[in-house]
Amino acid sequence: MNQPSVPADDPANSGGIVRCTICNKATIVSVSDIVGFIRSGWPRCCGYVMTLAPARQANDSGNV
Ligand SMILES: [Zn+2]
Repeated sequence: MNQPSVPADDPANSGGIVRCTICNKATIVSVSDIVGFIRSGWPRCCGYVMTLAPARQANDSGNV
């Protein structure tokens, strides 16, 4: 059952994770962060553009 109200600070519902495929650094970003990336440039690390993954993925599975 999905709740109609989404907490603004919950990255699982409002953003994602940008990850560097080189050093594996990951940063949680909000929707407004992503909007900023689109306007002014995607974040880079190790000389490459970081990839965006839904935060949900990191939160969802039970296997650790
Ligand atoms: Zn890196």
